Amino acid sequence: MKTLNPGSTIGILGGGQLGRMMSIAAAQLGYKCHIYCPDEDNPAKQVSEKATHASYEDFDALEKFAKEVDVVTYEFENIPVITVEALKLKTVVFPSSRVLKISQDRLSEKNFLNEIGIATAPYADVSNLNEAKKVLEKISYPAVLKTRRFGYDGKGQAIVKSRKDVERAWKKLASDNIIIEGFIDFDMEISVLAVRGQDGEIKCFEPVENQHKNHILDLSIAPARISGDLRAAAIKQASKIIENIDYVGVLTVEFFISNSEPKLRVNEIAPRVHNSGHWTIEACPASQFEQHIRAICGLPLGDVKFTGQARMTNLIGNDILKLSDLLKEVDASVHHYGKSEIKAGRKMGHVTRLKLPVC
Ligand code: AMP
Repeated sequence: MKTLNPGSTIGILGGGQLGRMMSIAAAQLGYKCHIYCPDEDNPAKQVSEKATHASYEDFDALEKFAKEVDVVTYEFENIPVITVEALKLKTVVFPSSRVLKISQDRLSEKNFLNEIGIATAPYADVSNLNEAKKVLEKISYPAVLKTRRFGYDGKGQAIVKSRKDVERAWKKLASDNIIIEGFIDFDMEISVLAVRGQDGEIKCFEPVENQHKNHILDLSIAPARISGDLRAAAIKQASKIIENIDYVGVLTVEFFISNSEPKLRVNEIAPRVHNSGHWTIEACPASQFEQHIRAICGLPLGDVKFTGQARMTNLIGNDILKLSDLLKEVDASVHHYGKSEIKAGRKMGHVTRLKLPVC
């Protein structure tokens, strides 16, 4: 157990909006943040004490960074494992590199989940078109082809509805490391954000329902409109996952919910705070960002209780131009990520609307 006192410096790998909101939460508890991010124009450094701009493979810069911070964490999952392992020789890093090794490869992620008894879509890994065709005859159509690494927001994946789609999908993905998943005809997508402290204590936020537009999260509704049994099962599975990776910090587990058994299947895990947890900033005593800071600093975890309703809407691309109207809305909590350039599909901010129970 390594407890850090306020005044200590937290190093954050990555400079996006998640790092920005983590840094704001850290400041609230009296900690300073030092952002490590190759890109100089990043939203996190605007609200942080210090920033280093260097590549994730610049080991001299990493060593210097490690000397200037008391603990290191990360805000996105594609940080090279070697970067985290190099930092670990010089300072404390939470979460550990083990979860990156598991979650950066869809095959090892699914193998891990199935080994601990968590259901996923049926899957197989393939390395050439002929293998893909053979597997598809068994898994049957429709199915989803995904690159094993570096996929996000629907990138690096293609749906195959019938045999005639296979070659087109294979060409589109242009990779020899592909996983084929059975298509899950789900009713809803939900996520559970779990947090685990250095002492092993685990807490989970209420499961949240996620709706996407163009493969990007559009709306999160908390709590998810699911039965009590499914709620309990999702929380139990997220707790099992976080425990089995011996994880410290916030971990997000995304599930598909369907009518047929198994009703819950994990789609993927993200070893970080998550877009689907932004509602916790206004809705919970300690937000996902604060919980992460508490866990990595060895502090007691905060309360995750939430009995009202929350809706978080992403402001994507030009949506941010609605800012002045949103600011006039009494019940809207508006977040602008400070990004200088609007681009289609870019997450520019979000807005949370709460409905609290009448006492
Ligand atoms: P992913 O990149 O794995 O998070 O997938 C992005 C989105 O594609 C998910 O949020 C789902 O809406 C959809 N998707 C991914 N995998 C499957 C699957 N096996 N069956 C049905 N839909 C899927």
